Amino acid sequence: MQLESALSSEDFAKYPFLKQASKQIEELQFTIETLPSEKTIFDRAQNRVEKAIFEVNTGNVVKDKRAEISSFAAALILVIATKNSWIKKRYSLSVAKTAHAQMLLEDKGKILAIAKDFDWDIGEGVFGKDFRVRFSFYLKNAAHMHGPEWKLVNQIMDKGMVYLNKDKVVRLLQEEVKNRIEKRLDVPEIKNFPPEITVIAEGLIKLAQEIMGEEIEDIPKEVVQTAFPPCINAIYEAASATHHLSQMERFTLTAFLLNIGLNAEKVSEIYKSFSDYNERLTRYQIEHIAGERGSGTHYIPPQCSILQTHGVCKNRNELCRRIYHPLKYYKIKQQLALKQAQ
Ligand code: SF4
Repeated sequence: MQLESALSSEDFAKYPFLKQASKQIEELQFTIETLPSEKTIFDRAQNRVEKAIFEVNTGNVVKDKRAEISSFAAALILVIATKNSWIKKRYSLSVAKTAHAQMLLEDKGKILAIAKDFDWDIGEGVFGKDFRVRFSFYLKNAAHMHGPEWKLVNQIMDKGMVYLNKDKVVRLLQEEVKNRIEKRLDVPEIKNFPPEITVIAEGLIKLAQEIMGEEIEDIPKEVVQTAFPPCINAIYEAASATHHLSQMERFTLTAFLLNIGLNAEKVSEIYKSFSDYNERLTRYQIEHIAGERGSGTHYIPPQCSILQTHGVCKNRNELCRRIYHPLKYYKIKQQLALKQAQ
C-alpha cells in the first residue's frame, strides 16, 4: 500500500528546507544582489530571523507561497551576513522547532515523505507503533536526547529497525532539520554584501546582543567559584587534567569566565599549560570573545540547548532544569552565596 504522500507547494512553503523546495528556489533565480529589490521576500526574511532571535520560531507562513519559499533562502543570506555564530545556531534551532510543531499536525504519509527527503530508511510500523526507522537513523539523531524514553533498550527493535510513534519520529526529524540548516549556514565568508543587507545584518546583531544581554546584566563582578554550573566545572576539570579542550569547550569556558568578571590575562593563564598554547594567538582569541577586537561583539557562552547538542552539558542537576543558560545558573547561585555571606 502506498502511504507516502506527495509534497505540494503548500508543504514546500511550510518546509522550505526540503531538497525539492530548494529546486523551486533555484528556479526563481534571485541573487544576493537582486534580493533587496524583492521587498516582500526581503521583509519576510527579516521577520523570520527576528522571530528566531526573540521567540525561537520563524513566524507564521505567509499566503504568498513564492514569497514564503524564497524568504527562507533570503533569511539564510541575512543570517550568514551577520557572521554571528549565536544567530546561526539560534536560527537553525528556530527553523527546526517551527518544523517540529508543524509536523506534529501532519498525517503519517506526509511524515514519511519528509523523512525520505532526508534519505531515511523508514516505513509504516507494526507492534502498535506508527513507523519503523532504520537503527542508524535513530542512533544518529537520538544521540543527544536525554531521558529513559530515548534509551535504545527501551525501544522495540526488529531486524535493524526501531519501531516508533509519530511524536518520536518528528522529534528525530527536528534534529535532521537543525543539522541541515547549520550545514547550509556553514559557508566560507562572503564579502561585499549589498549595503541594504549589511544594514539589516547589523540590526540583527544588535537585537541578538539585547537578548543575550538579558542573561548577563547585573551579574556582580565578584567571582564565586562555588556558583559555577556543572558544565563549566566539568570543562575546568578537563582542562586541568588533559590540557586539551574542544573548540566549543574553549569558547564556552572563555566566554563564561569573561562574563563573570575575569579579565583576559587571568583567562589566558588557564591555557598556558596546553600543548598547543600560543600566547599571542590565545590572547587574540580571548580578546575577540571579550569584544575588544574584530567586530566588537561581546560574546556570551552558548545557551544550554546548544551545549547539550555539542555534548558539553554535563552533570546536570536540579537547578539546571529551571534555567536555559549557564550564566543564569551562575547568577542564581551567586546571589544565594552572596546573601549567605552577608
Ligand atoms: S543545563 Fe545548562 S547550566 Fe546545567 S550543566 Fe547543562 S549546560 Fe550547564
